[in-house]
Amino acid sequence: MERHEYDVVVIGAGGAGLRAAIEARQQGKRTAIVCKSLFGKAHTVMAEGGAAAAMGNVNPDDNWMVHFRDTMRGGKFLNNWRMAELHAKEAPDRVWELEAWGALFDRTKDGKISQRNFGGHEYPRLAHVGDRTGLELIRTLQQRVVALQQEDEKLHGDPEAYIKVFAECTVTRLLKDGDAISGAFAYWRETGEFIVFDAPAVVLATGGIGKSFVVTSNSWEYTGDGHALALLAGAKLINMEFIQFHPTGMVWPPSVRGILVTESVRGDGGVLRNSEGRRFMFDYIPDVFKDKYATTEEEGDRWYNDQANNRRPPELLPRDEVARAINAEVKAGRGSPQGGVFLDVSSRLPAAEIIRRLPSMHHQFKELADVDITKEPMQVGPTCHYIMGGVEVDADTGSSSVPGLFAAGEVSGGMHGSNRLGGNSLSDLLVFGRRAGAGAAAYVDGLAKRPAVTGLEEARAEALAPLERTGGENPYEVHHELQRTMNDLVGIIRKAEEVSEALQVIEKLKERAKNTASAGSRIYNPGWHLAIDLRNMLLVSECVARAALLREESRGGHTRDDHPGMSPEWRRRLLVCAAQADGSAVTVEEQVQPGMRADLISLFERSELEKYLTEDELADYDAAVK
Ligand code: FAD
Repeated sequence: MERHEYDVVVIGAGGAGLRAAIEARQQGKRTAIVCKSLFGKAHTVMAEGGAAAAMGNVNPDDNWMVHFRDTMRGGKFLNNWRMAELHAKEAPDRVWELEAWGALFDRTKDGKISQRNFGGHEYPRLAHVGDRTGLELIRTLQQRVVALQQEDEKLHGDPEAYIKVFAECTVTRLLKDGDAISGAFAYWRETGEFIVFDAPAVVLATGGIGKSFVVTSNSWEYTGDGHALALLAGAKLINMEFIQFHPTGMVWPPSVRGILVTESVRGDGGVLRNSEGRRFMFDYIPDVFKDKYATTEEEGDRWYNDQANNRRPPELLPRDEVARAINAEVKAGRGSPQGGVFLDVSSRLPAAEIIRRLPSMHHQFKELADVDITKEPMQVGPTCHYIMGGVEVDADTGSSSVPGLFAAGEVSGGMHGSNRLGGNSLSDLLVFGRRAGAGAAAYVDGLAKRPAVTGLEEARAEALAPLERTGGENPYEVHHELQRTMNDLVGIIRKAEEVSEALQVIEKLKERAKNTASAGSRIYNPGWHLAIDLRNMLLVSECVARAALLREESRGGHTRDDHPGMSPEWRRRLLVCAAQADGSAVTVEEQVQPGMRADLISLFERSELEKYLTEDELADYDAAVK
């Protein structure tokens, strides 16, 4: 088998993976970047709106404390507060660093990096490049990788001496020596040949899980691989019940259902209306947000030009609130002809301005739906977009409970609590990608000897099994049934009976998946690849469903029809998933959420905290602010 030795292997070449790899290489570690898709085609490329960072360029009142508060509010106080603190403090430096590496952000009139409004952010905060921010972020990070390779060529005569990319290469197992990580096992998509990475530290940066749902903004590579690899290696996943359904995905035509319509449309003035023409979001402002959002259309409209004296329009509530409101309008029979609601920017901005600010959206609707958004409204509805849950990590270093295993970006959990604010992912990737790369480098420095690779034969046999069976299940059918089950029974609104039913279906699908057969050879065989990915999607879906059944409250990206309120007692409880090394059993345990540090909790008003905290925690607050 093809074999390579590295200090750090980064799995994933999105924003988190590239930033982690750059850091590990800058700290002198021989680093491999392994990615399942083409280099440059990570999910991060699709990010449209921007990266949230309290630089205060548009509103000087913004600072890390306001960003921290917004992030905690958005996550309904379930966030790992240390992560939210580091994120809010370090995001501006990470954006300026990108600029120094060549990123060309949109500018304010006085030449600073421009920042736009987004749901849940008190001030304009998203550094952006039109609606193509993710593309610029990836371009810049890739350019930085190339710059480091050029340096290595000069120094060592080999551009790949310290950092090398393995594209279209899928990792199927993490390898261990006793308890510690010792490498990763993968196959080349094109040839199906196997490849082994011998490395004491692995950084998971594999993104999300959306392909377990039928309506999703996520693309084919989001099959929860990193989540499952971590579980199978003995790490824990937290907050898996919290899935973000973005309020605005395309609903028509069916072939493009789920594709994202960026929140920037609303940030730049777009409004949501039902079939009666009503701006229905004014009817859905929850009590916890009542004092922060406009109650009349006039005030909401004034806010775009005068934010100091007006409250923001409710179209810019956090995503979970807007998604539930759209769902309720459609259910009440006030939806658009194709089962969504109307998102209108055409009556709000001049055509030239729409094309300048939202070029991708204009192009996307024209090409895919034959709709000109400068002339008519879009039809939109909720789509599975992002998972808040992921690998439980140490906030400062990104390390998991397995020695040598690190995680950053969407595959990690905790930072966003029960609901992520738009724009907080791109900044999360940069802040925690850098920290995980540094954490992995420091871990390698502290090792007395390199761990040995074991488990190769098992990994090989597991990967080959679907090709060696004949007459088994069709992986596409198992996948489709899983997607429908997750969408219909563990979707945006959940009930105990439905989630239990989903768990029964998942048990049966797990048995069927063990018997999937893929016709053809190892050479570029998507049926075989899907059969391998199914293990991951089923494991992750089971975690989501088990945690969703246990959490008897509604909070952020977890709405229980049978437990509609948010409970302070539940906020203190995190649900932690673990699995057997063969994936046969998933367990979920409760863990107490540590109380917030005194200097951070005192950034909030008591009256606000009363909505979220237990009496005991409020007593701690009183002691902290004294
Ligand atoms: P990704 O960028 O998805 O990278 C994952 C990498 O892992 C890929 O290279 C993939 O090939 C690789 N990989 C996966 N499995 C394997 C495996 N088994 N073996 C090897 N490699 C593997 N967030 C914002 O903050 N602002 C926005 O404006 C915004 N807009 C968005 C728009 C869309 C349409 C979508 C879908 C998301 C948006 N998000 C936005 C969310 C954000 O883009 C993602 O959360 C983020 O990019 C995830 O980055 P990542 O580095 O964790 O993973």
